[in-house]
Amino acid sequence: MTSTGPARAEIVVDLAAIRHNVRRLREIVGPDVAMMTVVKADGYGHGMVPVARAAREAGADWLGVATLDEALALRAAGDDGRVLCWLAVPGEDYDVAVAADIDLTAYTIEELDEIVEAGPRPRVQLKLDTGLARGGASRADWLQLFSRAAELERQGALDITGIWSHLAASDEPAHPANDAQEQAFLEAVDLAATLGVQPGLRHLANSAAAVLRPSARFDLVRCGIASYGLDPAPGFTHDLDLVPAMSVRARLVMSKPIAAGDGVSYGHTWVAERDTSVGIIPAGYAEGIPRAAGNAASVRVGDTWRPIRGRVCMDQFVVDLDGELPPAGTEVVLFGSGLHGEPTAQDWAVAVDTINYEIVTRVGGRLTRRYVDETTS
Ligand SMILES: *Cc1c(COP(=O)(O)O)cnc(C)c1O
Repeated sequence: MTSTGPARAEIVVDLAAIRHNVRRLREIVGPDVAMMTVVKADGYGHGMVPVARAAREAGADWLGVATLDEALALRAAGDDGRVLCWLAVPGEDYDVAVAADIDLTAYTIEELDEIVEAGPRPRVQLKLDTGLARGGASRADWLQLFSRAAELERQGALDITGIWSHLAASDEPAHPANDAQEQAFLEAVDLAATLGVQPGLRHLANSAAAVLRPSARFDLVRCGIASYGLDPAPGFTHDLDLVPAMSVRARLVMSKPIAAGDGVSYGHTWVAERDTSVGIIPAGYAEGIPRAAGNAASVRVGDTWRPIRGRVCMDQFVVDLDGELPPAGTEVVLFGSGLHGEPTAQDWAVAVDTINYEIVTRVGGRLTRRYVDETTS
């Protein structure tokens, strides 16, 4: 962990940007909607605990995670606010979770019963499948799930604190699934109320819906990607004023001239058409640099965008320096906020045909992580 001199290759996370984004999302959704910052998957690659702290400082009412281990890690780090966890498998250590005061999620009656066994009056939220066909109770099972939940709540065996679902196409605002799912969700909420289940928190929206679909905000929004400053629905949003919190930087290993006709990297998938120069960047697919970025993405060296040439290797890749020979050690920015003219995770996502989520979440490997407090707007 201790190193001297500048890092060879590192992730820099601007916690001020996280706080800015959480506050900005609060402004967008208004004061009456509870704000959950989703910090699963190690805070989308940004580091769960520091991100969680920054989000709380900026007013996050809830933190959201997928696994119980993530929820417990938040408690171990001292977070004592509301935390919702939503992706259990049978036989989870629910008693530890209940003792740690985590709000759990149940998709089935079996899960409800398992959770109730785990401790006194656990807090549970009911997750419904309204059309994603992923986790959650299918419509055919709603009646029974709500009936059992109502019965257990009447017995004082648990508290149902929420009822929720997740959208399939919130990043495509005109997709018919959005209306259909919102309608299905309203029907579920009504049915639950009929059976005596009326939790205080109804929630449906992730970042894209929180920003683009006021009708889906209900009582709480679950904001992941936008909290990290990335656009949740590229092409459909405007004036969000979010600041990407992650940048990935490296030091140039070396630069050197190559001649017309020279092939670059494995398989020579790129061959210089004229004399030029190349720079070696010390991060590869072991660091989560997508192999698909070969001959596709660009990085900033000094003030100039430089295209990746040839294949991305396990530990390194090569960029075209167009005849220039910057010294070894020159700073390279793979991606960052974009505020200083560098490529962004969104630029990389477009270049490799994926989503910005995958770019930031997968980056890691041998990269070190450093936290700064810089932003800006
Ligand atoms: C990951 C996740 C979110 C956050 O989604 P973003 O699009 O990143 O805002 C919200 N809800 C659930 C259930 C999730 O799994």
